Amino acid sequence: MLMNFLFTVPMLLALMLTTSVHGQSTEVVVCGYRDNKQAALSLTFDDGLRVHYTIVKPLLAKYGYKGTFYIVEKWAEQVSVNRKNSTTRRRMCWDEIKELANEGHEIGNHSYSHIALTRIDPSNWNKEINHPIATFEEKLGVTPITFCFPGNARNDAVLQRVLQTHINARTHQYAFGGDKYSHKAAVRWVDQTLARENWGVAMIHAITHEGHGFAPFPNDEKDFVMFLDHLKTVDDKLWIDTFANVSKYTQLRDHVTVQWDKPDQIFTLKTDLDTHVYDISLTVKLTAEGKSKIINVKPNTATTLNW
Ligand SMILES: [Zn+2]
Repeated sequence: MLMNFLFTVPMLLALMLTTSVHGQSTEVVVCGYRDNKQAALSLTFDDGLRVHYTIVKPLLAKYGYKGTFYIVEKWAEQVSVNRKNSTTRRRMCWDEIKELANEGHEIGNHSYSHIALTRIDPSNWNKEINHPIATFEEKLGVTPITFCFPGNARNDAVLQRVLQTHINARTHQYAFGGDKYSHKAAVRWVDQTLARENWGVAMIHAITHEGHGFAPFPNDEKDFVMFLDHLKTVDDKLWIDTFANVSKYTQLRDHVTVQWDKPDQIFTLKTDLDTHVYDISLTVKLTAEGKSKIINVKPNTATTLNW
């Protein structure tokens, strides 16, 4: 009986796949990453430090990259109320964070108060995880859709709770800065990300020692600039984008099916994910009769082939 089942299911599946394509001879393959790049990389900046506004913002504009800034609600609120006009404050106020959002950077949720969520009673999770959502909407006009655990402290239960109101949470990262930071090691990490066709996530805190934050680079912004210079040499094959955009792409990529509306002419990438949230195109490679091309396709929207 079991043997029968094992044999029948794959055969049935194969039959369904061949009959559903109506004899079309065009192959549609969704690329692993945007623009058929080999790997992806997100630059994430934690804790809403003012150096992210004074140093990182102009640098990202110069290099043409978008980053993800994980903001702690309570810290941004305190600085905005008490120390907005101080020239020595460590953290960004709402106005500065809003400027980052206006430039197309992602503003992510780094909790209400930055307490380790694994160390508090789960009855307090709701405030820590969800209070910032409404506040960011009010203060910044953006809804955070990805989450970063304070101190990276998490367990399955708290991760599941976060995913009820966010599309993703940062659960893997390569730590930048600190006394032991080495440019060589960071370059090796990028090389490995490319070789393994992975999505690398850089976790960055303070840039300079004057930023008074966690883990500044040994040679302050010089090290960060050197790393950005390196990224420029590989970004023809490395997709550099926000944590939210790479989350959207990779999740959509894994949740679409190809539906032919007219054999070899019109197809749709069908998904049941909410395309108002997942508002990103997928890169597909089309192959037919020895020719191929790469195009970007909006899910749940019919695409007419135009060779
Ligand atoms: Zn943090």
